[in-house]
Amino acid sequence: MEQGVLKHRRTTLERAEKFISTIYFTDVNLQGKLYPKKADVKSLTHWAAPNLKDEHLRFEKVVKQKFTPVKVGQQFGPTWATHWFRVDVEVPVEWVGSEVHLRWNSGSEALVYVEGKPRQGLCSEYDRLDYPLSESLQADNRSFTVYIEMACNGMFGAGDNGMIAPPDLNRQFTLSCCEVAVFDRRVYNLIREVELLHDMAKHLPEGSERGYQALYTVNAMINACDVNDPTTFQKCHEISSKFLQQKNGDSQHTTYAMGHAHIDTAWLWPYSETRRKCARSWSCTIRLMEKYPEFTFTCSQAQQLDWLRRDYYDLWCEIKKYAKEGRFIPVGGTWVEMDGLIPGGEACIRQFLLGQNFFAQEFGAPCKEFWLPDTFGYSGQLPQIMRHCGISRFLTQKLSWNLVNKFPHHTFWWEGISGHRVLAHFPPGNDYGMKGKVEEVGLIMLLRSSQNFKDKGRSDKSAFLFGFGDGGNGPSEDMVERLNKMKDIDGLPRVKMSTPDEFFSAVEEEDGGNLCRWTGELYLEMHNGTYTTHARVKKMNRLCEMLLHDVEFVHTVAFIELIAHVYPYGQLPKLWKLLLLNQFHDVLPGSSIGMVYKDAHEHYEEIMTQGNEILAKGFRDVVRKGNFLFPKPGQTKCIIRNNLSFDRTEVIVIETEPSGSGPAKKPAKKRQKRSPQKQAKAQQYNSEGHALYCVNIGSYGYSFLDPVTSIQPAEVQEQDGMYVMKNSLLEAHIDQQGRVVHMYLAGSDRDAVDKEYPANQFVMYDDIPLYWDAWDVMDYHMETRKAVTDVISETEVLDQGPLRVSLKFSLRISDKSRINQQIILDAGSPFLRFNTEVEWYENRRMLKVEFPTSVHAREATYDIQFGHIRRPNHRNTSWDTARFEVCGHKWSDLSEHGFGVAVLNDCKYGHSALDNVLRMSLLRSPKAPDRMADMETHTFSYALMPHAGIRMDPHTLTYALMHHFGKDGDAHLHIRSHASFRYGWRHTPSHTLSCLMQVLFRRPM
Ligand SMILES: [Zn+2]
Repeated sequence: MEQGVLKHRRTTLERAEKFISTIYFTDVNLQGKLYPKKADVKSLTHWAAPNLKDEHLRFEKVVKQKFTPVKVGQQFGPTWATHWFRVDVEVPVEWVGSEVHLRWNSGSEALVYVEGKPRQGLCSEYDRLDYPLSESLQADNRSFTVYIEMACNGMFGAGDNGMIAPPDLNRQFTLSCCEVAVFDRRVYNLIREVELLHDMAKHLPEGSERGYQALYTVNAMINACDVNDPTTFQKCHEISSKFLQQKNGDSQHTTYAMGHAHIDTAWLWPYSETRRKCARSWSCTIRLMEKYPEFTFTCSQAQQLDWLRRDYYDLWCEIKKYAKEGRFIPVGGTWVEMDGLIPGGEACIRQFLLGQNFFAQEFGAPCKEFWLPDTFGYSGQLPQIMRHCGISRFLTQKLSWNLVNKFPHHTFWWEGISGHRVLAHFPPGNDYGMKGKVEEVGLIMLLRSSQNFKDKGRSDKSAFLFGFGDGGNGPSEDMVERLNKMKDIDGLPRVKMSTPDEFFSAVEEEDGGNLCRWTGELYLEMHNGTYTTHARVKKMNRLCEMLLHDVEFVHTVAFIELIAHVYPYGQLPKLWKLLLLNQFHDVLPGSSIGMVYKDAHEHYEEIMTQGNEILAKGFRDVVRKGNFLFPKPGQTKCIIRNNLSFDRTEVIVIETEPSGSGPAKKPAKKRQKRSPQKQAKAQQYNSEGHALYCVNIGSYGYSFLDPVTSIQPAEVQEQDGMYVMKNSLLEAHIDQQGRVVHMYLAGSDRDAVDKEYPANQFVMYDDIPLYWDAWDVMDYHMETRKAVTDVISETEVLDQGPLRVSLKFSLRISDKSRINQQIILDAGSPFLRFNTEVEWYENRRMLKVEFPTSVHAREATYDIQFGHIRRPNHRNTSWDTARFEVCGHKWSDLSEHGFGVAVLNDCKYGHSALDNVLRMSLLRSPKAPDRMADMETHTFSYALMPHAGIRMDPHTLTYALMHHFGKDGDAHLHIRSHASFRYGWRHTPSHTLSCLMQVLFRRPM
């Protein structure tokens, strides 16, 4: 009898690897026998969709077109084009009884249609090339006709020389394969078994008994297998079965596996392509569900499902069938997987409101889990918003991308700034697109290292999301087969095909009391350039969020006050949906290709145009029909509205004359001559000839233009080579470069500005990331600071009071870029405003403005959704250091007891604070994936506001809340009436909010 062979680990492993390799020895290995017979298709014809914009053509239209013959080897393009193919197949009679597949490789994404219905996606990347025609060919059913819609893009778009590069618009795609083949299921099963044993041998800890058992078993299988003699396959299977049937002990970790396909709603392709990606992915999912009864799939983003409902109704019906069975599982609760930092508080709630309404309406129940695996950081306010929206569970994995610090948990309680808690889980595979491989499942078990599952001892379960994202079409048959085989094998975690509810419920019930807690935001130590990239998108987002708030306010008042007011129930949700869509986690952050921003800005335009129309109509109704008004024909009056929840006294600019005679284009002097009676009402004309007034309006109220005359004037005068701007509250000293050298609160001699470094100093930085161009600003950028000091025109006086004083100056950034700025101080204003215009044409450079203060504090405070967050302005620990660029909304503040300085802004989100300096990131210039990102003239406004009192002085909040901060004044309207009235909503904001919610809930969106 022969003696056993002492196996060499490496050679045995490689032997097994080569036995199933798709690259090496395929003429003699097992893989090479997977398709034992192949044949050409009977005919292949083609029709090119004429218009690149015709993304989704109805099948009924397509089949009526004239299809002409084409051959394998031909090229089709260009990028983003659509080509349709009709494939006729006549399977050879000798194949009867075999499993027969159509094989297709167009180097792109594609969708198979059968009998007019979308059946299955195909994708060349990740080898999804097969469409099964028959599991067992029947003699009388050997003819097949399928249509294939080919999309001329890869699963990650069409980057020119690299994934995130801007698209190559002229790419051609070669049809390299269109054939029919016999698929040998026995060979396939053996391949999966060899793979599993090989992977266990390779990835179980070296020296482990189980690993060696796997190694010897796979070696024995190969010895027993004659690839040319299928009768040997059974023996091989018996050898592997003996090993694979050995089960785990009771203490083993359980992996809750769930299929998933992370489809970015727009990114390296436009929104329109995502609509088709959904159909390709989810048709694959449905086919797998038909075949594997235990297979489950989690699907987030109501918007994508809504698109599918509209575009692919047949597929939608199939999805609903499996949703009813609890296997196609809607998750997330939001309209899209939005950015987690930049959207305002109301927008975050709207994500849930519109998302949950959709899920409840279409699937019978709202989602239980918030699902945001790929977003670039998570606001500390999200737990409260989630809890108020009926969600107590949260899943992500993105913090595994942290560059510096490893997040200490995978399963934990996340507590927000309000004290609300949710159960959070990060799948320890650190991915949302696993492939079901041993090494991935094994990571959870710490087979090779103790790096992963952090909460061992506290919990013995974790989630596992498998499936290719984007255009990869989700889970594949290979993945499901792998995981099915791994259900319970000694040495690997148990794998259970499951649902998020089952997983979270088990954690809540069994482990909830053991878990640790993390308080505050989940900061991602990466991608923090996304707070700044695509500045105009951020600006439009802020403007639209404010506009839709105002629309809601005005119509809520009208709804309550007027008997027959028609609330814009139809229009408002439509506009909100557009805004929420653009808040997707690659659109609002600025990390998409240029095509996406073309669409996004069209959406913003639609929101602005329609939103303003609805707003104006609502306000007109309130004013004209309100029962508190008694308009009579006669004199024209100008009515000023305050959209905010506090009384305001401030200077406003009215570009049209009170008579409503159109824009005031003529300078003040001419106007004085022409209309002395009307100009007497204006308290000042500014340098552009517009009328200035100081007005006082109650909270959420409106009144006739009734100027406040008692206000102390603002002044400007030249003094020692500087300009001194002064009003009743502030005094600021400005130098020839427009920098604030001193700033005092009235009656105080404490300078708010650092004594050595002036404020409002523009600074440039090199901004070259390691890879993720639009995404990342790296820590080393801070070592490249260069002050912008090249003066084009020195500071000069523009407006001289009494209501407004202003200065202007220009600076050169480079040959291509410059800054023009106006510095404004209004009578009675507690802040100095900087209206800024930047012509910006740089390459991988970043512009910031900095404010060195005289404040000594350990933390800076930032505005976030419905609250604020404090972050260190020092670098004690690696966690502090890693937060060198952070996201804040309308203000940042540095305060010590009794005194502080705040920086307000109208559309910026990137901030940093170090020691006593507040910096705001203004513009970036990345070149990928959008070569033209931010290359234009930008306008924005910010302000500097010293204040007495403790941090978070109500003044800071109040002024930052000014929705129209940065613009002059507030909304106004001209009506014909001679009634004199004042109207103000003397309610608390929460009362107004409850009115608002009352309206929303009366007729759910
Ligand atoms: Zn994503």
